[in-house]
Amino acid sequence: MTTLKLAVLMAGKLTLDELRQAVASGEIDTVIAAQIDMQGRLMGKRFQAEFFMDSAWEETYSCNYLLATDMEMATVEGYKATSWESGYGDYTMKPDLSTLRRIPWLEGTALVLCDMLDHHGHAEIPHSPRAVLKRQVARLEAMGMKAFMASELEFFLFRESYEDAHAKGHRGLTPFSAYNEDYHIFQTTKEEDLMRAMRTGLQGADVPVENTKGEAEAGQAEINVRYTDALTMADRHAIIKNGCKEIAWAKGRAVSFLAKWHPDFAGNSSHIHQSLWSLDGKPLFHDPDAEHGMSKTMRHYLAGLLHHASDITYFLAPHINSYKRFVAGTFAPTKAIWSLDNRTAGYRICAAGTKAVRVECRVGGADLNPYLAMAALLAAGIDGIENKRALEPALVGDAYSSTDAREIPTTLRAATQTLDGSAMLRAAFGEDVIDHYVHAAKWEQSEYDRQVTDWEVKRGFERA
Ligand code: ADP
Repeated sequence: MTTLKLAVLMAGKLTLDELRQAVASGEIDTVIAAQIDMQGRLMGKRFQAEFFMDSAWEETYSCNYLLATDMEMATVEGYKATSWESGYGDYTMKPDLSTLRRIPWLEGTALVLCDMLDHHGHAEIPHSPRAVLKRQVARLEAMGMKAFMASELEFFLFRESYEDAHAKGHRGLTPFSAYNEDYHIFQTTKEEDLMRAMRTGLQGADVPVENTKGEAEAGQAEINVRYTDALTMADRHAIIKNGCKEIAWAKGRAVSFLAKWHPDFAGNSSHIHQSLWSLDGKPLFHDPDAEHGMSKTMRHYLAGLLHHASDITYFLAPHINSYKRFVAGTFAPTKAIWSLDNRTAGYRICAAGTKAVRVECRVGGADLNPYLAMAALLAAGIDGIENKRALEPALVGDAYSSTDAREIPTTLRAATQTLDGSAMLRAAFGEDVIDHYVHAAKWEQSEYDRQVTDWEVKRGFERA
C-alpha cells in the first residue's frame, strides 16, 4: 500500500464499505458499538467484526436500565421510563454510521456510536443524551442556525495505575508533577509518553486535536480540540474521555476527570465555547459595527444563558462532587455573569471584535455529560433569542469579589430545585425528560446524604 493511501485510511473515519474491506483484509477484527449513558460514558458491546458486518451494523440491543442507572450502575427505583415492574426490557441500539471510526490505540478495533430507539416502535428515546441534544440542534436549525462548539477537558495524571489507585483506596496518590505546570514545556515533556499517545491516538480516531498543555495545578493537563457542530463535538468529547482513560490504563497510569479529586488541588473544568452560524456558513455572532463585534443575536443568546444560568447548572454540574469545584481564586467560576476575556467570569467572551467572537461557558466541570450540557446551553440561548432578552452590562474586574453578582448555585440540592422548576427547560426538553433527570439528581443527593464521611468521623469521633 502506498504511504498516501495508508495515511488516508488512518485518518479515522470509516464508511461501512471501508470497514467491510478492513475486516476482509484482517486489519479490523473488533467493532465496539456504544451508546451514551446518563453520565456521558460509552456503554455497549464488542462485536466480532464479521458478525457486525453481517447484522449488528443495522441494529443491536441493550438493557434499558442503561439510561436509568447511577455512576455505580445501581438499579434506581422510581423512574417512569423503566423499572423492575416493567421488567427492564431492551432498547434498540441503532448505529449512527456517520460516527464509525478507527480506534488506533486498540488493536484491530473500530467504534460506532448508537442512537437509542424504542424496542418496538423505533422512536428515539427522548431522555437518551444524544436525542436530547439532537432536539435542540433541530430547533436551532428550524431557526436557520447552526451551533459550533468546542469543549475543553482538564484532567489529572497520576503515576499509579487505576488498579493501584483502587487498591490504595484512592489515597496517597501521586500526581505526575510536583508543581503547578500551567503552560510548562519542561514538565509536560516528562508527560509526553502519555500526552503524545493521546494526541496522535485521538487524531487517528477522527478527533482533530489542537493542542495539549499543562494546567494550573500539579499533575493537571488540558486537551483542546477543534470546534465543530454540537453533536459531533459531544461525540468527540465522550470519545476523548474514554480514550484518555484507555491510553493511560494501557501505560499503567491513571487519569481522572473527577470535578474535584482533592480539597487542596484545583478542580477539573470542561469549558464550552459556543458560536452560532447561518446554515450557509456566516458567523451570526459577529457584527463588525457593533460594540466588541458582538451581534444582536449574540447579545440575546448570551442574555438567555445568564437569565437561565441557575436552571441549567445541574447539566453543567451533575454530581455532589461537582459543586466542590466552585472555589474562588482557582480559575473555576463562582458567578454567573459575563465579562470580556476575564477568567473569573462564568461566561467569558473570547476573540471580541473578530469573526471568531464566541462565548465560553466556564461553569461546567469535566464530569459533565457533554450532550446534556450543550443541549441545556442551547435551550437557554434559543430562549434568549426568541424572547429578545436584553443583555446586562458586562462585569469588569474580579468576579470572585463582586458581592452583588449572580451566584452559581452552590449545591446540587439548589441546582436540582431550579432544574425542577424550570419552565424553559421543561418546554425545551419535554416534561418527562426533565422529570427523569430531576429523579437522577435527587438520587445522587440521597445517596450522598446517607454517607458518613471520613471528615465527619475524624472531626467528631473523640471530640463530639
Ligand atoms: P482559550 O485558550 O483562550 O480558551 P483557544 O484559542 O485555545 O482559547 O480556543 C479554545 C477553543 O475554542 C478551541 O477548542 C477552538 O477550537 C474553539 N473555537 C475557536 N473558534 C470558535 C468558534 N467560533 N466557535 C466555537 N468554538 C471556537
